Amino acid sequence: MYRIIDGKKTAEQVLNKIAVEVKELKDNSKDIALAVIIVGDNPASRVYVNNKKKDCALVGIESYEYALPADTSQEELLALIDELNQRKDINGILCQLPLPGHFDEKAVLNAISPQKDVDAFHPVNVGHIMIGDCLLLPCTPAGVMELLKAYDIPIAGRHCVIIGRSNIVGKPMAMLMLKENATVTVCHSKTVDLAGITRQADILIAAVGQAKMIKADMVKEGAVVIDVGMNRDENSKLCGDVDFDGVAPKTSAITPVPGGVGPMTRAMLLANTLTAAKVQFGE
Ligand code: NAP
Repeated sequence: MYRIIDGKKTAEQVLNKIAVEVKELKDNSKDIALAVIIVGDNPASRVYVNNKKKDCALVGIESYEYALPADTSQEELLALIDELNQRKDINGILCQLPLPGHFDEKAVLNAISPQKDVDAFHPVNVGHIMIGDCLLLPCTPAGVMELLKAYDIPIAGRHCVIIGRSNIVGKPMAMLMLKENATVTVCHSKTVDLAGITRQADILIAAVGQAKMIKADMVKEGAVVIDVGMNRDENSKLCGDVDFDGVAPKTSAITPVPGGVGPMTRAMLLANTLTAAKVQFGE
């Protein structure tokens, strides 16, 4: 019988711990605040930003929204980021992606101070991940690591196969699994014999963005399967990269979609904001 890795429950536990720490800091007059920048009126971005503000309120972190019109110039956005970088009362900064087409997204993300970069997208933080001394971690891979820890899933010495090599999920995921002494294989769209490789995985992490592409014949009996994907199926229902019904009975543990990695990603943003604040407070 397989275990369902419950991201919702684990995220609640993470948030409870964060709330306790935030309160302790508050009691010592150390308030924590996150600045959330949103440019334009992308409906999905609006939902994400609203959720982030709700999550902040839940744990006692102050959130300040900076909603800028779609025709904001790159210079204006960079000036705002510069101001937020300087402000002592702002501990974390995030700029909701995607930005409207006329922005140089890389330049915008690089302008955020690495100490306040709660998405951990800045090259300085990416570099820290590479050398294994990271403080701020990209939220989704960090959430996956928390889930594996919460369910006592051993990592050292096991073969972890990651499908996807994006800068925000696949690549940092590989680094975090390496740090925990997994043997890591990263697959992508040019990988030959994907199923032959995924069948070798003790821990299979799918971060592809293709609804239900991982089928039962691609998974080893007893594997742990982590589904990062967030897609819509043929009925517009939210689903992952893994064909859950077919794959789950073959696994020892599996994350559902929704209710798996998603809630953990949200929780880890707050964990990063707390971490950033503690460093700034000299804690
Ligand atoms: P991405 O930037 O589009 O990267 C997708 C990766 O999958 C690429 O490396 C691509 O290979 C690889 N790929 C595509 N088709 C493939 C195939 N047929 N076989 C093997 N590899 C294939 O996506 P992402 O940002 O990493 O996100 C991946 C998924 O996770 C999406 O569904 C996204 O919505 C979801 N996501 C969820 C959360 C969460 O909180 N749950 C957070 C972030 C992302 P190439 O590099 O060769 O193109």
